[in-house]
Amino acid sequence: MARLKQRKATTSTSRARTPKAAKKAARSTTSKSAKGRAGVAKSAVPSKRARAAVAPQAAAKKLVKKATVAAKAKPVSVAGKAGKYTYSFGGGRADGRSEMKNLLGGKGANLAEMAQIGLPVPPGFTITTEVCTHYYANGHKYPATLADDVKKAMAKVEQIVGKKFGDRANPLLVSVRSGARASMPGMMDTILNLGLNDQTVAGLAHASSNERFAYDSYRRFVQMYGDVVLGLKPESDKEHDPFEVVLDAKKHARGVTGDLDLTTQDLKELVVEFKDLILRRTGKPFPENPWDQLWGAIGAVFGSWMNQRAITYRKLYGIPAEWGTAVNVQAMVFGNLGEDCATGVAFTRDPANGNKKFYGEFLVNAQGEDVVAGTRDPQKVTIEASREVAVSKGMDEAERVRTVPSLEEVMPQAYKQLRGVADKLERHYKDMQDIEFTIERRTLYMLQTRNGKRTAHAALKIAVDMVNERLIDRETAVKRVEPSSLDTLLHRQVDAKAQKTMVAKGLPASPGAAAGAVVFSADDAATAAAEGRKTILVRVETSPEDIHGMHAAEGILTARGGATSHAAVVGRGMGKPCVVGCNALQIDYVKGEMTVRDQIIRAGDPITLDGATGAVYLGIVPTVEPTMSGDFEKLMGWADKIRKLKVRANADTPHDATVARQFGAEGIGLCRTEHMFFEGERIDAVREMILADNTEGRRRALAKILPMQKEDFKGIFRAMSGLPVTIRLLDPPLHEFLPHTDEEIAELAVKIGVPAEKLKHKRDSLHELNPMLGHRGCRLGVTFPEIYEIQVRAIMEAACELAREKVKVIPEIMIPLVGVLPELTILRELTDSVAKAVINEYRTKVAYTVGTMIEVPRAAIVARDIASQAEFFSFGTNDLTQMTLGLSRDDSGKFLPEYVDRNILAADPFVSIDQTGVGFLMERAVKEGRTGRPGLKCGICGEHGGDPASVIFCHKLGLDYVSCSPFRVPVARLAAAHAALGV
Ligand code: PEP
Ligand code: MG
Repeated sequence: MARLKQRKATTSTSRARTPKAAKKAARSTTSKSAKGRAGVAKSAVPSKRARAAVAPQAAAKKLVKKATVAAKAKPVSVAGKAGKYTYSFGGGRADGRSEMKNLLGGKGANLAEMAQIGLPVPPGFTITTEVCTHYYANGHKYPATLADDVKKAMAKVEQIVGKKFGDRANPLLVSVRSGARASMPGMMDTILNLGLNDQTVAGLAHASSNERFAYDSYRRFVQMYGDVVLGLKPESDKEHDPFEVVLDAKKHARGVTGDLDLTTQDLKELVVEFKDLILRRTGKPFPENPWDQLWGAIGAVFGSWMNQRAITYRKLYGIPAEWGTAVNVQAMVFGNLGEDCATGVAFTRDPANGNKKFYGEFLVNAQGEDVVAGTRDPQKVTIEASREVAVSKGMDEAERVRTVPSLEEVMPQAYKQLRGVADKLERHYKDMQDIEFTIERRTLYMLQTRNGKRTAHAALKIAVDMVNERLIDRETAVKRVEPSSLDTLLHRQVDAKAQKTMVAKGLPASPGAAAGAVVFSADDAATAAAEGRKTILVRVETSPEDIHGMHAAEGILTARGGATSHAAVVGRGMGKPCVVGCNALQIDYVKGEMTVRDQIIRAGDPITLDGATGAVYLGIVPTVEPTMSGDFEKLMGWADKIRKLKVRANADTPHDATVARQFGAEGIGLCRTEHMFFEGERIDAVREMILADNTEGRRRALAKILPMQKEDFKGIFRAMSGLPVTIRLLDPPLHEFLPHTDEEIAELAVKIGVPAEKLKHKRDSLHELNPMLGHRGCRLGVTFPEIYEIQVRAIMEAACELAREKVKVIPEIMIPLVGVLPELTILRELTDSVAKAVINEYRTKVAYTVGTMIEVPRAAIVARDIASQAEFFSFGTNDLTQMTLGLSRDDSGKFLPEYVDRNILAADPFVSIDQTGVGFLMERAVKEGRTGRPGLKCGICGEHGGDPASVIFCHKLGLDYVSCSPFRVPVARLAAAHAALGV
């Protein structure tokens, strides 16, 4: 069990100019001018800019890819037949299969598969994703043959269930649901009970012998249709759902609290009131004709593919718009026919912690959406879970059995059948399943199965457990864990020992500690995040409209809902700490406050959530480093055996090098020596060197720096004993080390006894209009060779001293920013002559190599020549990206987000390698370099080295290693294994 310190890596690609700039950067989480190589505050800078580290699009792209599970190995045609737009399922047969997700969407493909393997699936049909694509490509028109296909498919359903769509005596009702290739929970629209109108409702009442049920279904349908198809929604964050307002008013008028307390007459009235509301607010009457209803619903589902929340979700998870959604039309089964009916959702294993425990929630006499919507608190499916909840609420057994019994107790037969189906599904798909079921008059029906979303912690545990259970092999297990999700495993936890005041407790839905100011709307969370403020989004319950705010907030807290509510599912998927169903909260959006017993918490007040326990604390509570489980080590071990790429770390201090090694780094890929220049008294010597008028003066000042740098190098070599350490010679322009403002200059003048005028003059003379393209990198070494001489001496003296102590040192000296061969020729000669001199002086043997960074596009182009003087290449993709795209690392933050939003760029090229442009140069450089010098060692040390998509790209290019910040080393190790597995 390794205790790992939580500190996410930085992906900031900017650089430090001055200590002041570095501090400013350290303060700002959003500043694009933050300096990635900040010399001072060296540990603070990366940690404070942690959030920039996540590359959701790139990371999630693979998550989406991996969601596809082939149920059977048999070769199948997954493309479907040309011109076939509907695929039927039910009655023990199906046109489709689980492999056809691209065409049928995940839901459609799995419904077909479940029907094929003999599970109880209500019959229906799937309208393919091709229709969605056609719909958008042809001005919202359907293929000419679709209407006919839908009629025929509906006839098949009618035949299987023995009811007719639109029939007044025994009407078939259907659900209409979206279903994209990748699961997008709650992002698109669903309509239930479709086919009801003033006539068919009477038929339903008669056929079911349950008038209340018929009108309950009808009022739900009108409500849902009004919302989803006719667009009657709250107009602002502050407004409550207009239908719920009418419903609440009815309950109030009747003096009841639950939906179940409303009478048939109440429900009849509600239908009329809902229809009136629709007409008043939308100007559109509610359509009575079932076929009109059906086409309206199909249109709404296709339309929902382009709604804002679906677009946001797709962007977040890298799902291409071209995929489109399928539409599933399926015969309704009813969980709301009476006390012998229920509906629920379940996971074959616990999605929060991965424990092999069947976990589910259900509601008696309710319809599907009730469970996920969180409007009623669901009961637990198993006795065990029900008892746990009772204990946490201080309920005795008798009260539990009376108020919240489990499904296992209330419908033991259906429960047994459900467990059997769940086991069968997990064995069939060889993955944890998230299932939806309905029990109609004690008969079980399966409405959906999919690979369940899970926390990173659960993903790890399930993957390792399934290997132990011989369900999957190690490679599959490695593929099942998303590299970027390891970040979540490194989340901090609430410090158990810290003083804290718990104000409430809800259900622990997604682990990790989150602290921030309370906001009550998604927009407020988004605005705060844009200003760099941390928030906790508090809602009665969340809905897909809140997705942007959930993404922006540090954590999510809801008053209602269970572990499968929207907030829980989405929070988990995002890896956000989340607490749901915190019933004690009374939230008042209008006043912007919530009350917990007599405690009032207002918008802006700080709170802390513990997503692992469900606790809500007042104020900002201290957090501690996470403890990693043995499963982590095990899976990483498997990944290490699979991967071909080595993983090194970018580290500038002995401490960082030690941490990196604990994380599994196999060397240092980049030690930025300038960071050492800022430490303590050294900056004075550095400034003295800059101010010197001649070489001698510079040498004198540098001589003061040498012993200090040597000690640092010794510490790093020692921490990395036996592993290579790439040390880069000075790179930033000299003015980065001088103060800039007149006040700072005056202060320094007094401190070092140099006239302020002289300092100002020096500052002005070093001023550059475009310092990134100015006097920096090897250009400094060429024009002030004494700087590099001293640095090489410090490196080699450190190496020789340790070699004498029998520490195995492998120094790799790296020249930055080379663009033309003579630069490297000159500096290589300089390096060799100093290194050899030092080795002679120490009379010891140290093997060292000299190489270069490939950061200037020209160097990539003439890589064959450059390789003649370089024993290794290390791609500095921060600068290479800057120069290839002509995008300033420091200034592009002003417009890059918009470029990404508008798809002008697929992703931020400073986060994930621009594979077609920058990647082209890299590919050429590797090829040409290895032509010039066979076996040339190639690596990457730009921030992309910790980005999973970029790591996979580097594998494809045949690089030898990637190098990234220490806390991303595990991510890179796993990504490298994914690359080797061809994920
Ligand atoms: C790079 O340019 O990718 C690099 C690693 O160097 P720096 O970020 O220090 O410029
Ligand atoms: Mg660089």
